[in-house]
Amino acid sequence: MKRRNFLRKVGIAGVGLPLVSSNLSFSLPDEKMIPAQIPVSITTWNFHEAGKKSGELLAEGKSALEAVQQGVMIEEANLDNTTVGNGGAPDREGEVTLDACIMAPDGNCGSVAYLKNIEHPVAVARKVMEETPHVMLVGEGAYNFAIQNGFKPKNLLTENSEKEWKKWLEEKDYMPIINIENHDTIGMLAIDKTGDVAGACTTSGLAYKMQGRVGDSPIIGSGLFLDNEIGGAVATGMGEEILKNVSSFLVVELMRQGKTPQEACKIAIERIVEKNPEYKGFQVALLALNKQGEVGSYCIHPGFSYVVNSNGENKNIQSDSFL
Ligand code: ASP
Repeated sequence: MKRRNFLRKVGIAGVGLPLVSSNLSFSLPDEKMIPAQIPVSITTWNFHEAGKKSGELLAEGKSALEAVQQGVMIEEANLDNTTVGNGGAPDREGEVTLDACIMAPDGNCGSVAYLKNIEHPVAVARKVMEETPHVMLVGEGAYNFAIQNGFKPKNLLTENSEKEWKKWLEEKDYMPIINIENHDTIGMLAIDKTGDVAGACTTSGLAYKMQGRVGDSPIIGSGLFLDNEIGGAVATGMGEEILKNVSSFLVVELMRQGKTPQEACKIAIERIVEKNPEYKGFQVALLALNKQGEVGSYCIHPGFSYVVNSNGENKNIQSDSFL
């Protein structure tokens, strides 16, 4: 998705009814929930290749942790995606800074933020999780740790992203267009053949953010949370609002209290809406999967969709929305 348009406008596209299939549950409030076939993965937006990759790995019997990592790495390497990994839009100083996290079924997690010049922040986050006593490394420390662990430095600012940033410098009245420009964070959750749940989330964050800005995506509980007994949730959209409400944690706790993934996402979005009267000016979308493989999603503006991969098939589902 390109950030070439600089209109101060809210673009709302893709309003649609959720699709329903016989072996997948989309947790519609009135509908009987039918568990998805396990293994299953769910992915924010329309990242079909990432969904497919995770599905293939799960079918081979790989762990949910491996599937989500390898799945989201597809988008980190995708130069056409300007809000994840290599080719991501820079901050207002022209630097690409990446945020990512990963969470394992045993509750262990790893995270990196404000990481420069490393194409696969989620792989570094996994190393933080597995090879350090810490959960989160940021900035120079995260970069040095990546280099020590064999990651190769790379310039992540593509010609296209640089050109768009220079345009922004001239115009400076840029506001991200909802669902068009502000929507490429990839969050993924999976359940593997053994029934274990894992998740990952990775982004270059908001385009032309202030230098040093970190969003929700690398923050365990905000951009991603899971509990292997219950299920997991991921978030995309305006990170500041997700951070203020610790939305992914909230969704998992609501599922713990017996809510379906759909109900939990809806309540968590309503919480954001209640707290911020400006809610029409930004998008937030939440996506959740419970231990039984039931899926649910809710967002503020219509236009958010997600990919469910199950039984060797990708389905792109339109989320229900508040507006
Ligand atoms: N949540 C991301 C952030 O605020 C952006 C997005 O998902 O569009 O950094």
